[in-house]
Amino acid sequence: MNSKKKIDVALVGGGIMSATLGTFLKLLKPELTIEVFERLEGTALESSNPWNNAGTGHAALCELNYMPDSKDGSLPNPAKAVAINEQFQLSRQFWSYLVENQILKSPSTFINATPHMTFVRGAKDVDYLRRRFEALKTQPLFAGIEYSEDPKQIAEWAPLLIKGRTADEPIAATRINSGTDVDFGAITNQLFEYLAKNGVAVHTASEVTDLVRDRDNSWNIKVKNTATSSTEYLNSKFVFVGAGGWALKLLQKSGIAEAKGYGTFPVGGQWLRTDNPKIVAQHKAKVYSQASVGAPPMSVPHLDTRVVNGKPSLLFGPYATANPKFLKNGSIFDLPASLRPANLIPYLAVGLTNFSLVQYLVGELLKTKSRKFQSLQEFMPSAKAEDWQLLNAGQRAQVIKKDSVKGGVLQFGTEVITARDGSISGLLGASPGASTAVHVMLQVLERSFASEFSSWKKQISKMIPSFGTKLSDDPKKAAASLASTAKTLNLN
Ligand SMILES: Cc1cc2nc3c(=O)[nH]c(=O)nc-3n(C[C@H](O)[C@H](O)[C@H](O)COP(=O)(O)OP(=O)(O)OC[C@H]3O[C@@H](n4cnc5c(N)ncnc54)[C@H](O)[C@@H]3O)c2cc1C
Repeated sequence: MNSKKKIDVALVGGGIMSATLGTFLKLLKPELTIEVFERLEGTALESSNPWNNAGTGHAALCELNYMPDSKDGSLPNPAKAVAINEQFQLSRQFWSYLVENQILKSPSTFINATPHMTFVRGAKDVDYLRRRFEALKTQPLFAGIEYSEDPKQIAEWAPLLIKGRTADEPIAATRINSGTDVDFGAITNQLFEYLAKNGVAVHTASEVTDLVRDRDNSWNIKVKNTATSSTEYLNSKFVFVGAGGWALKLLQKSGIAEAKGYGTFPVGGQWLRTDNPKIVAQHKAKVYSQASVGAPPMSVPHLDTRVVNGKPSLLFGPYATANPKFLKNGSIFDLPASLRPANLIPYLAVGLTNFSLVQYLVGELLKTKSRKFQSLQEFMPSAKAEDWQLLNAGQRAQVIKKDSVKGGVLQFGTEVITARDGSISGLLGASPGASTAVHVMLQVLERSFASEFSSWKKQISKMIPSFGTKLSDDPKKAAASLASTAKTLNLN
């Protein structure tokens, strides 16, 4: 890097968000000079790494938090679940385009067909799951969803849920075959490989430590080489802060008004994992269940097939852990260092009004390994401790934001923060996460490249045929899109 080099686009962070945005920009405007800065020694080592996230292609097929129960026993509202599914279809279509154009490699290196199931116990949740099924079965993007209360049928779908189950209680499950397991790390690394081959400099061990706006609204960027501690400066017309849990820190440094009042609530995680081929061979599904009282939505337990580097394993969790770091490789001072006069009230309000969450996190923290193992046995009664190891997952950095009524609220979605002039954008939050990287990066393009975006729409529609429309409004189009992406991505 030359000092004060001038570039068009600086992507801070080597995760799936920067990789997706960089790929869009390379395809839409190849002449842009783009550079990537990642503080760690490689790309996809934080949340986008396959062992740091659950690899669920979130399409709301099985996650109950996207479709909470109605208050009066009527059919729950499917609107949010349908919207999440629509967003995932954008990813399926874009990844299909990238496979067809040899930008992503063979689909099995990053996506695998894995039925998505929901499994519940007890009369109340059985009733809810039945009504959820009734509300979804006519939705075009949920075509093929099945429901059963019969242990024999559920055992056919997922034998490990039933084997050894003695409790005499009502159970129910739904299953849908269009679900996926995704290696978001593989997608990230393959996209950065493509970018590097096409003139994008991907700098690793390069931490962006400061961002200062120049008089022409471009950004002066300070980059520290974490291996040599040397520092370099460059100037970029546009900056994307794809720094995961550290995005708030850089947005605060930039001084943009739009980032004021935001905070970050970190939730750590752990999994139980088995690679024992005899057990792995008995389960091919992602099975989600109901969250414990007070649990954040992303801490809903699930028993998952994971395929990483072509090798299947089973993962159970996540168990939430209390950890003040905003990144797995972050600092214990991340939380105190993020405090500002503008976000003190939101932080305090969230601390005071989320008592059940705080209680839940303390409870999780006090759980011994054997208590954690009991949660797995509630799912898989035949599980034996010697087959499973407890591993650390990635850090979730949830958004805390101002609220005119409550002072501050904890938000479990993602939020794009963009300066009024569009010259800097950053992403806060972690859910639905990597699955919706395409949807979220389209928002960044629309806000930060506003003058060019309308002229790009035709090209974007070639990459993502349903862009700007709703598949759920048109059963034929929904079926055609699911079938064609399944064919290209080998998901049949
Ligand atoms: C436990 C867990 C389970 C999850 N499960 C799922 C799931 O099943 N499905 C799903 O879709 N999503 C899931 N997610 C969310 C998903 O992993 C994230 O939303 C996604 O990976 C975020 O990508 P990113 O590029 O924003 O961040 P990251 O992948 O975290 O990348 C950010 C990068 O920025 C770098 N960085 C930070 N600061 C700087 C700096 N100053 N200079 C240079 N580099 C910097 C970091 O080192 C890091 O590599 C899960 C997350 C967690 C933690």
